[in-house]
Amino acid sequence: MNKRTIYLDNAATTKMSRTAIDAMTPYFDTVYGNPSSLHSAGQAAAEALADARERVARCIGAAPGEITFTSGGSEADNQAILSAARNGEKKGKRHIVSTAIEHHAVLHTLQKLEKEGFSVTLLGVGENGVVRPEQVKEAIREDTCLVTVMYANNEIGTIQPIAEIGAVCRAAGVPFHTDAVQAAGHLPVDAAAQNIDMLSVSAHKFHGPKGIGFLYAKKGIRLWNVIEGGAQERGKRAGTENIPAVMGMAAALEEACGRLEENARKMTALRGKLIAGLSAIPHSVLNGDAVDRLPGNVNFCFEGIEGESLLLLLDDRGICASSGSACTSGSLDPSHVLLAIGRPHEIAHGSLRLSLSEENTEEEIDCTIRAVAEVVEYLRGMSPVWRDLVSGKKEFITK
Ligand SMILES: *Cc1c(COP(=O)(O)O)cnc(C)c1O
Repeated sequence: MNKRTIYLDNAATTKMSRTAIDAMTPYFDTVYGNPSSLHSAGQAAAEALADARERVARCIGAAPGEITFTSGGSEADNQAILSAARNGEKKGKRHIVSTAIEHHAVLHTLQKLEKEGFSVTLLGVGENGVVRPEQVKEAIREDTCLVTVMYANNEIGTIQPIAEIGAVCRAAGVPFHTDAVQAAGHLPVDAAAQNIDMLSVSAHKFHGPKGIGFLYAKKGIRLWNVIEGGAQERGKRAGTENIPAVMGMAAALEEACGRLEENARKMTALRGKLIAGLSAIPHSVLNGDAVDRLPGNVNFCFEGIEGESLLLLLDDRGICASSGSACTSGSLDPSHVLLAIGRPHEIAHGSLRLSLSEENTEEEIDCTIRAVAEVVEYLRGMSPVWRDLVSGKKEFITK
C-alpha cells in the first residue's frame, strides 16, 4: 500500500494500534514461557494470561472464568453453537433459531448441524435489516436449544435489539448467543445487562492482532471442545496459548472501549457525510437502517454496474473498499444479506461497503465521494444494462 491509500475496509480487518503492538512485543522474547510450565518462566506467562483474561472480562461485563480464548471470531462462533447443540440434544432438544443475515461462521455451522438432524429456523429481516424480538419469541419452540443472533451485521452494519432478544430468551429458558465480532470495541457490550449467555469476539476488528478472539460463556453453560488435546483454557480449548496475541487483544479492547464514545462520534460524523455524498449519485440506495447501524458502516447499491469492477477501479485510485463480505468476494453469488433485505439480484451485484475507522479524515471522505461518483458514471457509460435502463427497455428499481 502506498502513502496515498485510503483504507475503508475496517469491517474486514483493521490496522493494529501502536498500543496493541507494544503490548505484544515483550511476550515474544522476554516473557516467552509456556503458561502450563511450572518453572518461573512459565509462571510469568501464566500470570500475564490471567491478567489479560481479567481485563477483557471487565470490558464486557463478565467474570474472568467466563472467558475462553480462541483463534478468533469464527472459532468462538463454532464452539458456542456446537456446545449449545450438544447440551440441547442431551435433553432431546434439536431446534435452533437464528437469522438470515448471520456471518458464514454461524450459518455454515448451523448447516452442519442440519445434516446431523437439527432443525434451524432462520428469521427474515425487514428492509432495514433488523430482526424484531417478537419474531424470536414466536419462533421459539419446546425443543429450542439455542437462539443465535448477531449484535451488528458485518455487511450492512445494522444493529440488532440484543438486550430485548436476550430478555425473550431468558423468559423462555433458552440459551442466547450473539456474534459480537463487529460490535465489540465499537458499541457498548455488557453481557450481564444485555441478557447474553454466550458471545463471540475477534481482536482484529478493533485494532488488535489477527488469529485471536474469545468466547464468553455465562457461568453454568457447559462448553464442548472444538479443539481436543491438552488441558488449556480449563480443558475447553486445547493448544498452547498465544500469549502475545492475547496481550495485544486485551490492550486493544481496553483502548477501544475507553475511546468508544469519542470514536463513535467521530465516525458517525464521517459516515453522515459519506452517506449524504453517495446518496446524491442517481439510482443509488443505502442498504441497512439509516440510524441503527455501526458508526463506521456505509453500504450502497448502484444500479446498472458490477460491484467487482467498481472495487478494482477504486483500488486503482488508492481506495480500499469491499463489496460486502470478504468471504463472498470471488464468488458470483450476490450477498445473502442484501438478498435478505429484499434487494433484487440485479442490484445486489452492484454493492459497495465502505467501513471507516476513527483515523479516517474528512478529506479522505471528500476524495472518496468524488472517486465513487466518477467511477460509477464511467462504468455505467460502458454498461449494456444501464443503456437498457436509460432507454426504458428495463425499469429502474431504485429512484
Ligand atoms: C470477522 C467476523 C467473523 C470472523 O472472525 P475471525 O476472527 O476473522 O474468524 C465472525 N463474525 C463476524 C460478524 C465478523 O465480522
